[in-house]
Amino acid sequence: MKQIHILGNTYCIDTGMTYIPYYKINTHEIVMLDSGWGDGEREGIVELLTRESLRVVGIINSHAHIDHTGNNMFLKQRDGAVIAMSALEASICQSPISMKAYFGGHSLAAVEAHFGDMISDTDIVIMPEDDHVTICNTVFGVIHTPGHSPAHIAIITPDDIAYLGDAIISYEVMKGAKMPYAFILEEDLKSMAKLSELSCRHYIVAHKGHYEVIGSLIQDNIEFYKHRAERVKEVITAPMTQEMLLKAVIEAFDIRIKSIHYQLVIERMMKSFLDYLVTIGEVVVYIDDGFIKYDCVKL
Ligand SMILES: [Zn+2]
Repeated sequence: MKQIHILGNTYCIDTGMTYIPYYKINTHEIVMLDSGWGDGEREGIVELLTRESLRVVGIINSHAHIDHTGNNMFLKQRDGAVIAMSALEASICQSPISMKAYFGGHSLAAVEAHFGDMISDTDIVIMPEDDHVTICNTVFGVIHTPGHSPAHIAIITPDDIAYLGDAIISYEVMKGAKMPYAFILEEDLKSMAKLSELSCRHYIVAHKGHYEVIGSLIQDNIEFYKHRAERVKEVITAPMTQEMLLKAVIEAFDIRIKSIHYQLVIERMMKSFLDYLVTIGEVVVYIDDGFIKYDCVKL
């Protein structure tokens, strides 16, 4: 892994898959913005921290996904990191049972096996009305950007560098994303529009890029998600149950389902697009002979 100096005291760890920003509060102590993926990134992150003589004294999480919170407890135990997270995401990460409330399709055992590293003992809870968080005597700006996850936040370093987490994806990720991730698409689109009003010195996107200006990337993200919703709509050729739709979407988008876990992710994402299409009045949902069915609105 290598590190990239962005500006001032703000750096990024490039894990290969992700940029993990960090802010140096002094020569050897840092606040990380997200903690990376436990299984695939822990070793490389530790190697970099050791090489650079850095101690993680704080972590602010943009959201509770396994590739963003996977080293929280490890770094808390190793370096004494204080953990800050938005209230709702902190409550999701409390225990396997609270995570089961979020990842409803998985059994409790599967939640523990797949998402165990997400469990976090959060020290500082960021409330929906908070516009900043103070951690290790350092103030970071907070912008609430729900949608990608229930209470995703963007974080602004004291250097005026905005870390956008997964609220925005890079062009490279767009190219490879068959079913891009959005927990509530309509909220995600609103958050993207909100981010386009930002005026910071620099912007960091977790997967994966850093930019001086971000307006056109945000606009292209909005178009990309809306276009993907259109493609989901095109799959609805007749009244269809969710299971029929899932089969049709997997075929139309050429998605290879390799595990139960992956199918559940695709199903949740497809549902998010369906909910959006129903919300904007392009698709109707109704009960037919005891089954939920979706159909396109006839003009
Ligand atoms: Zn995410």
